[in-house]
Amino acid sequence: MKAYIGYSKSAGSYEGAILIFANNAKEAKKLARQSSVISELAENFFDVTVTWLKNSQYLFKQMRSSETPHFIDNPITCTHCGMWGMGDIGEDGVCEACKEIAPSSNNGFNLTPPVAGAS
Ligand SMILES: [Zn+2]
Repeated sequence: MKAYIGYSKSAGSYEGAILIFANNAKEAKKLARQSSVISELAENFFDVTVTWLKNSQYLFKQMRSSETPHFIDNPITCTHCGMWGMGDIGEDGVCEACKEIAPSSNNGFNLTPPVAGAS
């Protein structure tokens, strides 16, 4: 099976996206349309889309069955960016993408953006 992200084209994946485990995109789309998260965001049947998340082996940790295609409405998200498709999320709750931005600050992660004009 493959991991897919399912979301509403008009709302965008930032508004809400689900994690889908399916054998192909057609199957993933069918599952996405059953999700209450997606049906709330999508304007219509054709507004639902899926994208194959390549190189996303880390997502398979959340897989509930390796035989039955299924979706996860609320995948584990990064505590920093709030996303889940950006890389593995470590025990500290921060994803790889966020760690790459600030690799030296794995401890005491500074979530406050620099204040403009501060000296
Ligand atoms: Zn992140």
